[in-house]
Amino acid sequence: MARMYWYVGPIELSHMPKPLPSRSQIRQRADVEAWIAAQPRDTGKHQQLTATFIIDQALQLWLADQRSEHVVCARGAAVLAAGEISFVLEANRLIYCELTNQSTGYCPEPTTWTVVQQVLDSIGLPHAGAWATSYEFRRCPACAMLNLIKEHWFFCAVCEHELPRQWNCACLSSL
Ligand SMILES: [Zn+2]
Repeated sequence: MARMYWYVGPIELSHMPKPLPSRSQIRQRADVEAWIAAQPRDTGKHQQLTATFIIDQALQLWLADQRSEHVVCARGAAVLAAGEISFVLEANRLIYCELTNQSTGYCPEPTTWTVVQQVLDSIGLPHAGAWATSYEFRRCPACAMLNLIKEHWFFCAVCEHELPRQWNCACLSSL
């Protein structure tokens, strides 16, 4: 069983706006092409479009505008994976997808790639077989700040306390 991730970000970002911004479920490659066609963009030869994505507990892939919070895209629910997905286009055709697990709302672990790859393969979306960039997230045991780990620097950006090597973003009880 894949791990479920509940929203762990700031409470003020988890409120559902009204009306709810739209999201698109991707069931097949044609859904991506329809989503791409609906995005405003410059017309150049090489193009890249980036969206927010989440994979819900039913292994369904959802896209929302890149500026959307993942928790809004997930309608407040737990997810199996979350991050950003970029569609690399050539002459308006989808060539491949690049993904990251960058979601400071869910702080998913890099190992969520397993679920992501399973879903992309079932839809038939071309990918590189790994994250384009992957991130580690940790919650500071001293000040509760969520940290995005850069270059294996396991120290809190706010209070410089050492951060644990194990994923702990859901752990508020130890504070
Ligand atoms: Zn700290």
